[in-house]
Amino acid sequence: MNDPIVMAGPCSVECEEQILATARALAKIPEVKLLRGGIWKPRTRPDAFEGRGEEGLKWLLEAKKETGLPIATEVATPEHVELALKYEVDALWIGARTVVNPFSVQQLADTLKGMDLPVFIKNPVSPDLNLWVGAFERFRKAGVAPLAAIHRGFSYYKESPYRNFPMWEIAIELKRVLDVPVLTDISHICGCRELLRDTAQKSIDLAFDGLMVECHHDPDHALTDASQQISPEMLKELLVSLRPRSSQAAANDQVLAALRSEIDDIDAELLQLLARRMNVSSQIGAYKKEKGLTVVQMDRWKQILANHLQTGEELGLSKELINKVFEAIHLASIQRQS
Ligand code: PEP
Ligand code: MN
Repeated sequence: MNDPIVMAGPCSVECEEQILATARALAKIPEVKLLRGGIWKPRTRPDAFEGRGEEGLKWLLEAKKETGLPIATEVATPEHVELALKYEVDALWIGARTVVNPFSVQQLADTLKGMDLPVFIKNPVSPDLNLWVGAFERFRKAGVAPLAAIHRGFSYYKESPYRNFPMWEIAIELKRVLDVPVLTDISHICGCRELLRDTAQKSIDLAFDGLMVECHHDPDHALTDASQQISPEMLKELLVSLRPRSSQAAANDQVLAALRSEIDDIDAELLQLLARRMNVSSQIGAYKKEKGLTVVQMDRWKQILANHLQTGEELGLSKELINKVFEAIHLASIQRQS
């Protein structure tokens, strides 16, 4: 991506001065194509700042008129959509907490039926590709276009440095299945400023189409998500520091072509080996049945996995990879034998 599209702006529109000061600075950054501003904030706990509502939309529209930047906000109900349209909002996004609920998504799709209005659909809170795809299908069926996705990371049960764990493979799969542009919301993935740059770089390296970044003229005093917001100046520095990557050069690059051909050969070998292994599994299954033995022999399975983890480590392969690959093989093998 040589020219990343950036949607930037405050987590929440707080007051006229805040959104105008932020928008003026952002308008000077060429990559910033859309000004975001939260008007209705889905908060985890009651009594937290829940956004300015309609009053905030007036200030957001003022920022659009003054800077020429198109504006975007989050909608979760038909009333939100109606108000956003009244105040000339140019693009909408559906938040992670809304995408988890098919009733809400359907209601929004019905409200926007047949409209030419860009709608960005964030991933649901949980790592559920189908739920994310389903939201797109509801909007597509309603004839809403254009649609794009935002990867904002997922709730994750393991400890991690991220606020919402980025599962790049899910975002890549969504892009493959639906053929839609995908932006990376580095702010909600990271939850802090320190990880933003590397996460943005990763997004570019993986050929995603742009970034959503929370920016505030005085981030330390933001009413919501202060720890992850950055100033427009910091955004400018961050964008300058990114290394572009081309996805075009690949077609006539001989070094890459040779390496890819090697990968193709290895994959073909892997498939042959897997087929052979499954064949042996079937034979073992038939034998165990004849002898009245259980299919799963836990001690042997634990031993096999421990051995593979050890060998894998010696070969420089991660524990995660070995666990994933052999758990999948073991499961398929059990299914063969049952
Ligand atoms: C936001 O973008 O302000 C927001 C609430 O994000 P998410 O739905 O990703 O939590
Ligand atoms: Mn936020």
